[in-house]
Parts: sequence; structure tokens; C-alpha cells
Amino acid sequence: MTAATWSERYAASLMNTFGPPKLTLVRGEGAHVWDSDGKEYVDLLGGIAVNTLGHAHPALVAAVTEQVSTLTHVSNFFTTPQQVELAERLLAVTAVDGADGRVFFCNSGAEANEGALKLTRLTGRTHVVAMEDAFHGRTMGALALTSKAAYRAPFEPLPGHVTWVPFSDTEALAAAVTDETAAVVIEPLQGEAGVNVAPSDFLVAAREITKRHGALLWLDEVQSGMGRTGSWLASHPSGVVPDIVTLAKGLGGGLPIGALIGFGRAATLFEPGNHGTTFGGNPLSCAAALAVLATIEEEGLLARAAVVGERLRAALREDPRVLEVRGVGVLVGLTLARDVAPAVVAAAQEAGWIINATGPDRIRLAPPLVVTDSDVDSFLALWPALLDDAMAADS
Ligand SMILES: *Cc1c(COP(=O)(O)O)cnc(C)c1O
Repeated sequence: MTAATWSERYAASLMNTFGPPKLTLVRGEGAHVWDSDGKEYVDLLGGIAVNTLGHAHPALVAAVTEQVSTLTHVSNFFTTPQQVELAERLLAVTAVDGADGRVFFCNSGAEANEGALKLTRLTGRTHVVAMEDAFHGRTMGALALTSKAAYRAPFEPLPGHVTWVPFSDTEALAAAVTDETAAVVIEPLQGEAGVNVAPSDFLVAAREITKRHGALLWLDEVQSGMGRTGSWLASHPSGVVPDIVTLAKGLGGGLPIGALIGFGRAATLFEPGNHGTTFGGNPLSCAAALAVLATIEEEGLLARAAVVGERLRAALREDPRVLEVRGVGVLVGLTLARDVAPAVVAAAQEAGWIINATGPDRIRLAPPLVVTDSDVDSFLALWPALLDDAMAADS
């Protein structure tokens, strides 16, 4: 079956939420994927920061295969060793200064944030302060905290009482938070906005401001967490102890799993009956996440993410047609001198590389943590020609 035929069948059978698919993919290995016509691509987007271990990593394959043939789902009337072990491991790698935490498992980033928003309501307050350019997901509650007008407008009214402040603006944050504020929600690294990094001193100030007003500090690390930045959490270098952390994308290495972690008083706000989910915390997804955590440690992938990210950023900065390069670890964003990002992405795909445009002049790279030096070298060697192609097409 050719890619064109799959696209036609897609258009006739799937809702048009994402626009036409760019490729029909059939197989992957490491950072490489193949389409239905047999063409090979290097995947420098990693399923949008999901495929931490790349595609078909033997450790993930083994863990999932073993679990699916043993026990896949049991309902939340019961627990499984995989669920308990994953909660313990997650707390061990995310808690700062030995903070006491508890985990709620779910299936996606939006669902983790939806749960977190409900949790904040149990403080008895409803006001939430969110950042401009934030992305927290597409369900109604997560969308209420997502700033992009085009995403929000068709679905208003959304759950209310949200105040917006410019990303990383400490003064504006201090002015917005009151004794009636339930929570402040921040992505320590805004991925969908094109990779904007909050400076550590902003996170430290946010902790101080929320503490002063008795509000919760909620860090959305759905994209930035689980090792992608070279730390388990992007917020770790700041030393900040949050009340809430939300995780998803990279956690299951491709299997759908999200987590809402509460520390301190936020750990125990939910009581039986307050919240739930059918699939969340099933042993299959938990086994996958345990394999991801173990493999990150065994293969030294935190250090690897930091090194690869620095190499990419340093080299991409060299080209005068790149105005700015941002990011931490293998979450890399850059701004081009002209609005040709979609053309660069198209040229890359033609040449066998998967990258992503987050705006007319913004490119994002989020390769698997296992991407090889030789793939990185080849991409950097090709990069000037991609810009040549895109800019020639534009003039
Ligand atoms: C992707 C993302 C979400 C939403 O996750 P889904 O799994 O798509 O629901 C939420 N927050 C951030 C920071 C994200 O990058």
C-alpha cells in the first residue's frame, strides 16, 4: 500500500484534527523510522519528546512483551507490583530535598494536568495564575490554562478564574498572586511555544511568592521531564521544591502514561472518591515506564542528553541565518532570521530527517536520548543546505 493510498484512507476515516499526515510510518529502530514506501528517516522529533529510548529499544520491547503476556490491566480496585514500584522510583528520582510525595497515574499530559487542576480546587481556592504562551493540553481544564487564542476561542467558556502573566516575569507574578490564589502553574521549559527556558531565579521567586500567599507551585514537566534536559526534571537545577509536578510524554517511552505527583500537603489533598481513571497505572504502562527509568540510568542517558544538546546548540548557533538557539539537553529550539520554518521542515523531510516547526520562524528538535553522534554529525553537515533550500524557495 503506498503512502498516497494511506493518506486517502486516513482522510476518509479519521477526524481532521491534525491536518493531513506528513508520512505513513511503518517501523522504527533507534532514532530511525521507515515509511510505507520504504524510505528511511532520522527522527529528530522523537514523537514530540516521547520516544526517550528511540524506537523498538530492546529493553522496552522486553519489558512490555513480558508484561502484556503476564497481566495487562486489572482496574484500580487492585494494585500491581509494577504500579507500586514505578511510584516509588518516580518519587525517588523527582523529589527534591527528600520531599514527601504521592503519585496519581493517568494516561496523558492533559489528563495529568486535569487532575492537578482538580487537586488545586481542594485548597478551597479557585484562582490560578498561568504563563503567557503556556501549553498544558486540550481537555477543558488544561485548555483553560493554555494561552493560545486559536486553541481556546471555539471552546469558551472554559473553567475560569485564571490570571495570565508574561513567562518568567517575576514582578508580574508577584503582582498577580494573592491570598486567594490556589496555584501558580509553570512549564520550567515551554516546549510548544518553541522552547523557552525559565531561568532558575524565576522558579525560585515563584516558590517564594507562592509560599508567601499559601498557594501551590505546580510545575508542568510533561515535555521537559524524565531526563530530556539532562536532569530528571528541568526544574532540578533550580533546587526548587514544587507542590505539584505533572509528567507524561517521555515517561513511558511511547506507551501512554502520565503522572501527577503531589509533594507536602498536595500529596494528600485527594481522598477516595475525588478523582479516578480506568486505565491509569495499569501494569503494562508502568512496566514500560520502569524500563525507561532503568535504561536511562544503565545507559547514562542523562549525561548523554546534556552532551548531545550542547553540541547541537553550539553548532546551530554558527549559522548567521539562525537568530537565536534555546533549550536545555535534547530539547532544542531555534529562531530563524526569516519565516521559513515550515519550508525548512519540508526540505528536511525530503532529505530524510524529521524535525518540527513550532511557529513561522521557529524550529524544535527533540531527538531520542539515544540518538547517535553520527546522526547528529550528518544533520549538522546537512543543516546549511536545508536553510539554503528553504530560503531559495521563499525568495
Ligand atoms: C504535550 C504537553 C501537554 C499535553 O500532553 P498530552 O499527552 O498531549 O495530553 C501538557 N503540557 C505540556 C507542557 C506538554 O508539552
